[in-house]
Amino acid sequence: MNNNGLYKNLDRYIRAARGEFEDKLATLVETPSISSDPERRDDIRRCGEIAAQYLRDLGAKAEMIHTPGYPVVMGSLTTDPKNPTVTIYNHLDVQPADASEWHKAPFTFYKAGDRYEGRGTTDDKGPALTAMLAVRYAVENGLPLNFKFIWELEEEIGSPNFEYFIKRNKGHLQTNSILVSDTIWISRKQPAVPYGLRGLQTFLFKLETHAKDVHSGLVGGVARNPIGELAQVISQCYDAKTGKVKIPGFYDDVTPATKAEVNSFVNSGFTTKGYQKAHELKSIRPNMKTEADVLKAFMAAPTFELHGITGGYSGPGVKTIVPYHAEAKVSTRLVPNQRPAKITKLIKDFVKAINPDVKVEATQALEPFIGDFEGPYADAARVAMKFAFGKEPAFTREGGSIGAVVTMQKHLKAPITFLGLSLPEHGYHAKNENYDWGQTSGGIKMFVKYFEEISKLK
Ligand SMILES: [Zn+2]
Repeated sequence: MNNNGLYKNLDRYIRAARGEFEDKLATLVETPSISSDPERRDDIRRCGEIAAQYLRDLGAKAEMIHTPGYPVVMGSLTTDPKNPTVTIYNHLDVQPADASEWHKAPFTFYKAGDRYEGRGTTDDKGPALTAMLAVRYAVENGLPLNFKFIWELEEEIGSPNFEYFIKRNKGHLQTNSILVSDTIWISRKQPAVPYGLRGLQTFLFKLETHAKDVHSGLVGGVARNPIGELAQVISQCYDAKTGKVKIPGFYDDVTPATKAEVNSFVNSGFTTKGYQKAHELKSIRPNMKTEADVLKAFMAAPTFELHGITGGYSGPGVKTIVPYHAEAKVSTRLVPNQRPAKITKLIKDFVKAINPDVKVEATQALEPFIGDFEGPYADAARVAMKFAFGKEPAFTREGGSIGAVVTMQKHLKAPITFLGLSLPEHGYHAKNENYDWGQTSGGIKMFVKYFEEISKLK
């Protein structure tokens, strides 16, 4: 097939599909699939059923696949068993929404011109439907590619049963490549393709030195202070001013970003000023002197972070007690080649050596992910983004973690490409979440082009 054949009707198709897109997005948004809220159990199932029906309407086979938690919607559209297969991952569960912070009801779909508001519009119901409409066009126009869909309903709670699903359905999930559409550009003016994610290891540091809080007039000077001791341990773990981790061996396995990678981060349209504004950071660390410093720090460097310390008195004014216990909530973000298990051992040994009474409990672990910065799938992403949005994407890394991605890489052993459509102003995980027709129409084009490019790969 030549390009003219494939793209001749695309603009007309996109215009004609707009009403359908808006209706379907409205239906999904108005089904509040909040995975963290047990009272929304029925809505989550209903959202999955509706979405599975959308896939059947496309001509796909689709089912709700059981897990010990919420089911996963799995779909498959085979054009010819001889064609290569791409698997498209999205999630259809959403973050909670505090209606008092929104200027419209969060679970009522609201359209203002090209802007669509409602919880889940950009994360990730809008991008899921955008990809689905591109698949329909590709299939109707004879593109030699098979499609599989994985629509998860537990992503926002850390994908607790995703590995269970992938392992048990491996036989149905054989694929040549995976496409994930659930990420954010750095700026509307500059498409971005992330190819890496940081991992995560969380810890509780616990110390109990006596049986109850005691008045410092009686025991002050004698009793140990667990909050003070934990603070001392933490100050030995890292330099809070610069963020530099002081635990020996912590950086040993880090693969630093190459010059080409850092250049690509810098070309993403990122500015420190905009970043500070977006996250309301009044000031940042003194060693963050250039844009490259900031980008490297959150995209390609590990961290040690203190999230909270509990224990003692936290009411108004001062109450002169010596606390009996303290708990610090700590995590490390990890970068490619670092392993949560190894870091856990390092931290446990280090803390034990400096204060053997502190108990270190490792809680959640997520491996870091690194995909392709170069190669045929990265090239296909470059071509597709340029075709749809007029500009080559910057290849970036995300500072956060998506557990499902690492699980797919581990078990399906196929290259993974991120083609996200969310923008910083879309209010991802925030109030007044929105998505827009520009990203939808451009997104359909981008996916069709990407599908064409990868259909040619052996
Ligand atoms: Zn998401």
